[in-house]
Amino acid sequence: MQMQELIRKLLTELGEDPDREGLLDTPKRVTKAYEFLTSGYRANIDQVLNNALFTVDYNEMVIVKDIDFYSLCEHHLLPFFGKCHVAYIPSNKVIGLSKIPRLVDVFSRRLQVQERLTRQIADTIRETIRPLGVAVVMEATHLCMSMRGVEKQNSFAVTSAMLGAFHDNARTRMEFLELIKLRSAVPGLRDTPAGVGCIDD
Ligand SMILES: [Zn+2]
Repeated sequence: MQMQELIRKLLTELGEDPDREGLLDTPKRVTKAYEFLTSGYRANIDQVLNNALFTVDYNEMVIVKDIDFYSLCEHHLLPFFGKCHVAYIPSNKVIGLSKIPRLVDVFSRRLQVQERLTRQIADTIRETIRPLGVAVVMEATHLCMSMRGVEKQNSFAVTSAMLGAFHDNARTRMEFLELIKLRSAVPGLRDTPAGVGCIDD
C-alpha cells in the first residue's frame, strides 16, 4: 500500500484532487504499471537462460534483430523505447533464440540509461556462453527529450556494444551492421557513445 499512498500524494502535489472519480483507481493502476515496468529487478537471469543453453558445432554469426524494447530512463522515469539487435558468434554453446528477447526484457524493465542497458545485454551473453564475439545495437526514442522539447534532433539515440570478434575485426562488425540495416545513418558508431542518451537535467 506504501506505493499507492505515494502516488496519491504525488497527484496532490501535481495540483490534482485524488478523490475525483477519474483518479480514484489511479494509485492502484500506477503501482501495478510500475511493478511491471521494473519487474526486471526481480527476474533471475540464470533461471531465464539456463535451461536454454545448447552445445553445438556451429560458429557462424547468430543474429536476432528488431527486438522491440521499452525501458524507463533513470533520470526522468519516462519511457525510452525502440529496437534492439543482438548478434554473437558461438564458440561451442548457443542460447535458445527465444531467450534473447527475454533477456532484453529483463534488463529493459529496470530504471536505465541506454548505454548501460546495451552493455548489460552484451556482457550477460558473453559471460553465459563465452562466444567468440557479441554485438548489441539499440536504437531508441527518449520521451524525456521529445515530450519536453529538449534537443529534439537527438531524441533518437543509437548505442552499441561490440565485444570480442565484433570489436577486433572490422569486417565482422560491418557484416553485422549490414545485416541489421540500421535505420539511422550511424555516424561515429562507437563502443561507448557518450551523451547520446537523455540529458540529465
Ligand atoms: Zn531522461
